[in-house]
Amino acid sequence: MLDSFGRNIDYLRFSVTDRCDLRCRYCMPEKTSFSQKKDMLDLNQLKKLADVLIKVGIKKIRITGGEPFVRKDIISFLEYLFVYKKKQLLNEITLTTNGTLLEKYAEKLKHNGIERLNVSIDSLIPEKYSFITNGGILDNVLKGIDEAKKFGIRIKINVVLLKNFNEDEIISLINWSAKNGFNISFIEIMPLGEIKYSRDSQYIPVSVAKKIIENHYPLISCDYSTNGPSKYYKTKAFSSLIGFISPISNHFCESCNRIRITSNGILYSCLGHESATNLKISLEKNNIEEVERKIRNSIKKKPEKHFFNINEKDPAVKRFMSFTGG
Ligand code: SAM
Ligand code: SF4
Repeated sequence: MLDSFGRNIDYLRFSVTDRCDLRCRYCMPEKTSFSQKKDMLDLNQLKKLADVLIKVGIKKIRITGGEPFVRKDIISFLEYLFVYKKKQLLNEITLTTNGTLLEKYAEKLKHNGIERLNVSIDSLIPEKYSFITNGGILDNVLKGIDEAKKFGIRIKINVVLLKNFNEDEIISLINWSAKNGFNISFIEIMPLGEIKYSRDSQYIPVSVAKKIIENHYPLISCDYSTNGPSKYYKTKAFSSLIGFISPISNHFCESCNRIRITSNGILYSCLGHESATNLKISLEKNNIEEVERKIRNSIKKKPEKHFFNINEKDPAVKRFMSFTGG
């Protein structure tokens, strides 16, 4: 479906839970409250929403969160979506995960049509990983990645660029990804939700990361795209690609094809705006026509662009990335 700026909206980021087993310092506060079960979409409501979204033209669904694997019925939902993929009504189902529970789920993912995963790792040094995630165990993630690899699932590593934290690991993260045959994307931090650090103190623009990389691997622009926001580059040194997501320094809103739905059934047509539509209310009334009407209206009213100012004291929006879905 086209929005009022002529963008074809065919990509949904579906946050199936706002809960997470980690507490990444840039993503959410250490002490945080999560949605109550009664306020979350149940499996039946997830399925009904998927039916309508696919009807209005969604072709790619990325399951996210919070951490999608902390939701107990996640595999049942993937099984349901896989039926649409088999009928070629969905082009792709994929997930973004912190990988801590991947070892347990990799085989089930493979059997339910998941061919690619994004796994978030901001440091390959166990102590630093534990620090940034507030207690995460890197080894569990690496075991999960190995298991996914064993089942032939392609992996992309997501790294949030963090000042005074991982600039010195950019090259080792690239080398490790290349050795394993993974693509990698570096992401600029976004001012989403209030945390105890100023966003400015965490922010590294993509241009700085590129400079560091070019000292080792000259970057060659390439056309590869997964229908997402990453701009990819090749190098002569290896076949893995290096991507950059630059929501602050060079936003990509003119080509944005995405909408997001939270685990509470709130549809946000833009990550950086507060305007929202509550689909759960309509699902509870079993008014599917209303759900469809609300989705179509939101797509039509999708804002032209976001306004992220990394130097501003207040966040661009109050909700955390873990709530809206990354
Ligand atoms: N828990 C899963 C994970 O970490 O991959 C999925 C949800 S997480 C919110 C999705 C992505 O958003 C992760 O790559 C995470 O690093 C990123 N993220 C979280 N907060 C962010 C922020 N304020 N700015 C930029 N990226 C952020
Ligand atoms: Fe959890 Fe992902 Fe946020 Fe880290 S980035 S706290 S893993 S939702």
